Amino acid sequence: MFDTLDGGTAPDPNPALRMTVIGTGYLGATHAVCMAAIGHEVVALDVDEAKIAALASGVLPFHEPGLPELLQEQLASGRLRFTTSAQEAAEFGDVHFICVGTPQQPGSYAADLTYVDASVRALAAHLQRPCLVVGKSTVPVGTAARLTAMLHELAPAGEDVHLTWNPEFLREGFAVEDTLRPDRLVFGVQGDGGAQDELTLRAVYAPVIAAGTPVVVTNLSTSELVKVAANSFLATKISFINAMAEVCEVTGSDVKDLAAALSHDTRIGGRFLRPGLGFGGGCLPKDIRAFMARANELGITQAVEFLREVDAINLRRRSRIVSLALEVSDGDLSGARVAVLGAAFKPDSDDIRDSPALDVADALRSTGAHVVVWDPHAVPNAKRAYPQLTYATSTEDALRGADLVLLLTEWEEFCTLDPVRAGELVNRRVMVDGRQALPAEHWAHAGWVYRALGRPAIPHATPSGAPVSQLEGAA
Ligand code: NAD
Repeated sequence: MFDTLDGGTAPDPNPALRMTVIGTGYLGATHAVCMAAIGHEVVALDVDEAKIAALASGVLPFHEPGLPELLQEQLASGRLRFTTSAQEAAEFGDVHFICVGTPQQPGSYAADLTYVDASVRALAAHLQRPCLVVGKSTVPVGTAARLTAMLHELAPAGEDVHLTWNPEFLREGFAVEDTLRPDRLVFGVQGDGGAQDELTLRAVYAPVIAAGTPVVVTNLSTSELVKVAANSFLATKISFINAMAEVCEVTGSDVKDLAAALSHDTRIGGRFLRPGLGFGGGCLPKDIRAFMARANELGITQAVEFLREVDAINLRRRSRIVSLALEVSDGDLSGARVAVLGAAFKPDSDDIRDSPALDVADALRSTGAHVVVWDPHAVPNAKRAYPQLTYATSTEDALRGADLVLLLTEWEEFCTLDPVRAGELVNRRVMVDGRQALPAEHWAHAGWVYRALGRPAIPHATPSGAPVSQLEGAA
């Protein structure tokens, strides 16, 4: 029997597979837990001993809704365990998922593949019998072909070790749901054994496929490209609406209304068309840069040259919001207490990699402001990366006495803030809504100067209740 995705059980169409997951970060830990949840026997490996010790004792070392409970459930089931031994993993698994990081190289746009190479090399040395290695990390096109040669050369089982690519599309904050009910599965297979490898992957994902998930089977290079192409498209859509925000700023137009009107066109759609502070995190920025670097190596720089502008528009949002903060503070923030709501690159995650919120908080600090940051889950990570910033202990603590408030990560608890109560805590009611997440009229009605990128200033109530159209006299 296997666990179905609706919580029941069904006759087992395939016996449980013995698999390993190599790299237990945001992607790997989620994948390992979810593979155990659908009935497989899983050994998960990482070189970070502290991370493995935490996971083995049922503690998730990062924030991801729903995952801690599932981790504990699967540890208790006996189907999931953790190790730091590549030999143990190699001896155990018939299918090995590579989930290690591929960050941007320092001083270059290219992806750093040293973790992928090291993990494959360590595993290969112990592969004594036929098995399937499945890449899930996001890699530049051509990496899988190079890793295939590496495996054949280094593994004692030689060409009986097959390699496939199965890119991952999960979103932090929705990682469990996206792993168990993905939009699609992509299998990149190669050579004579490709048909058999596809069957193995179909067995791995049997309950997911049985629930109706479409499967796209393609060659190795296409499967690598799918992921970077998807992220390039999403980044482009975000930067498109933010470029429109720049146009709105000089024409007195309202980008929020513009986006709403565009999104009614079903050919365009509203998702990822939300203007604001732009994208960050451990995927989009480094993936579009790695794509540009790879295109350059392939002699097709022009094909993805537009991504340079996508990146530039995105980064301009960060400096523009600092300018807006200065603008609403009469050009001088020195000594002002500035509350920054949000540190994570997105809500429902504690991931601060390339976080726009922290980038902006630090830039505000360098204008002489006293910046106080609060985030429901990302403060410990933020403190390690930005020890120079001051951190609050709650939303109220951050707001108390603030001369200016910036909402930079749209956590639910910030989006539902009561402007009247918040107004009683601050020194001056001035809100820069970097995510266009607040009901502007409510805030203006409660006496706040409300500003957002690409939107005209809206009249706000004075303490006597009369509307004023400009910023003077903000209380
Ligand atoms: P991460 O930094 O959270 O995790 C990477 C893990 O790999 C770390 O725990 C690290 O200790 C481990 N590691 C490094 N070298 C190792 C080795 N030689 N052997 C075993 N473990 C090793 O990164 P992540 O966010 O999980 O991303 C991993 C990959 O997945 C990246 O290529 C990323 O682009 C891709 N991806 C991430 C997401 C996401 O939402 N985070 C979504 C889709 C794809």
